[in-house]
Amino acid sequence: MTDPVHEPPTEPPPPATRRAPSLIIVNTGDGKGKSTAAFGTMLRALARGWKVAVVQFLKSGDWKVGEEKIARQLGVDWFALGDGFTWESEDIDESQAIAMEAWRKASEVIADGEHHLVILDEITYPMNWGWIPTSEVVAALEGRPEHVNVICTGRDAPEELVAIAHTVTEMRNVKHAYDQGIMAKRGIDY
Ligand code: ATP
Ligand code: MG
Repeated sequence: MTDPVHEPPTEPPPPATRRAPSLIIVNTGDGKGKSTAAFGTMLRALARGWKVAVVQFLKSGDWKVGEEKIARQLGVDWFALGDGFTWESEDIDESQAIAMEAWRKASEVIADGEHHLVILDEITYPMNWGWIPTSEVVAALEGRPEHVNVICTGRDAPEELVAIAHTVTEMRNVKHAYDQGIMAKRGIDY
């Protein structure tokens, strides 16, 4: 027998007593799992018959992630590069324009209240680069219709976002296959 690492708990945790009409969730940190956790929650939401929207803030090249394909099949409204974003400005960097357009779309989707879950995937990056104003994102989340749950993903979540979220998880990188020279794997990473 090995020595125990922990004693088994003897006291139950205090009971939860409140119901919230909706939650703001942030998945951040430098370890793997921020987006996959969001898409795991997407499955739970779909299982309950919720309408779900996903807005992807970074273009990921020409390949589509596997979760986009299956999500669309399951009726998710998925907004990403090439899905009818309009181009109002020609003189700013294309990536910044994509992020700004994605935020315009996201804020509309949140405010119209048609979806029970809105996933803002990789939104922290354009926030940290100063491409979309953090104060505007925070205001949109705080002013959301009360039944709209929102999940934000990405490294280095801004403090102001962490402050208004109900649940914040930091994925910590213990080790990653990439550091051993292993390429991103279809079916696992996308
Ligand atoms: P995933 O989409 O796998 O849940 P993530 O959303 O936590 O990852 P991102 O920063 O969005 O992390 O990373 C996108 C891609 O980079 C994914 O293919 C992911 O597997 C990979 N990745 C995530 N964390 C690391 C890491 N610490 N080192 C190297 N690659 C990583
Ligand atoms: Mg991600």
